[in-house]
Amino acid sequence: MGMVLGTIADDFTGATDLCNTLVRQGMRTVQLIDVPDPSLPVPDADAVTIALKSRTIPAGEAVAQSLRALEWLRANGAVQILFKYCSTFDSTDRGNIGPVADALMDALGSRLTVECPAFPETGRTIYKGHLFVGDALLGDTHMRHHPLTPMTDSSLVRVLQAQTPRRVGLVDHAVVAKGADAVRSRLVELEREGHGHAILDAIADEDLMVLGEALADMPLVTGGSGIAMGLPRNFRERGLIGEGGGAAGLPAIAGRELVIAGSCSAATLGQIDHMSARRPTFRLSPQELANGHDVARTAGEILKADADGPVLVYASASGEEVAAAQAALGRERAGELVENALAEIARLCVEGGVRRLVVAGGETSGAVVRALGISGLRIGAQIDPGVPACVSIGRHELALALKSGNFGGVDFFTRAFEVMP
Ligand code: ADP
Repeated sequence: MGMVLGTIADDFTGATDLCNTLVRQGMRTVQLIDVPDPSLPVPDADAVTIALKSRTIPAGEAVAQSLRALEWLRANGAVQILFKYCSTFDSTDRGNIGPVADALMDALGSRLTVECPAFPETGRTIYKGHLFVGDALLGDTHMRHHPLTPMTDSSLVRVLQAQTPRRVGLVDHAVVAKGADAVRSRLVELEREGHGHAILDAIADEDLMVLGEALADMPLVTGGSGIAMGLPRNFRERGLIGEGGGAAGLPAIAGRELVIAGSCSAATLGQIDHMSARRPTFRLSPQELANGHDVARTAGEILKADADGPVLVYASASGEEVAAAQAALGRERAGELVENALAEIARLCVEGGVRRLVVAGGETSGAVVRALGISGLRIGAQIDPGVPACVSIGRHELALALKSGNFGGVDFFTRAFEVMP
């Protein structure tokens, strides 16, 4: 049995979060980084997610990338497509959610699609078309001041209507509460009335399961990770995917262990304190890197350190230290020096026998993944909410955990290795 669900995600960590949800619902899931090179064998999986970086690029480019992803997914067996974006509906009047959804609909010949970023587990709920984050309306949260996609209006019907020429309607919670048949009838009605999009209310996981059932035959579904919860059951009931699946079946990866941290978030700084009190630790600073610090030597020292457990290398620093580095070197150059150094250390250490790797930081993970020639990830068991253990596809087979800065408990860096295959 091959791929049945093809998903297109507008950023890397969002893609991993979605894959984590699919695995927990029993689908064998692979995340690919960008549309793969034709030489890459089609992964053996029930669901394949193509992770793009299309959330905030110009809409035309986001559309072009998404269409290329769609073409690959359909050519390789996907019978349903899920377009995944952030659970806070991150977008502007120019897009990219509306334009990408419209382009995918056109390519699939679909006349109605749905939008549902709800993810009750993380506090994102939708009621009467209004998106809540915890107890607050979206427009009253920190998202109001987001540097790239400020969200000032909580009405998803209005937000999406500004991004699409198709009419946007609503399936409200009173309908969802009546069950999947009621949702299906309402969608038929909305289409008959001339709507091309429908925002879906959902305030609890049960609602997402009802919606998943109702969407079984819709060629294109769009939403956050939450909407993916109810889709796997449809494939299982139709005999298109096996029982079990999920995180099972990843190969065990033996080899040395390394933690690389470039995130300066509070959670990561706590994890660094916890680990550095227990295991060999190396620190880099952007100023030293700018003065020609020899990263090959640091990699050599890491490989000579106690091999009986993980070693930590980090550049993360407090807000004050980061500000000082940025004042001296410029924000971009400071970040680039650190990312390049950590990526090079990852490359040299893998050459030297490291096979099990934890990386902290979204941008840092991106840099490391590129340096290691990784083209995809087979997704395994969840370590902490939103962070699964993975095995890489590409130049090397590595056990990996890639976490965005704020995720994970204080002992994440050591505990991750117990969950990794
Ligand atoms: P997060 O997921 O927490 O946002 P990222 O890796 O995406 O983490 O971003 C952290 C950024 O901070 C990276 O660009 C990294 O290179 C940079 N950085 C790390 N340490 C320092 C430091 N000491 N001074 C300045 N910038 C740093």
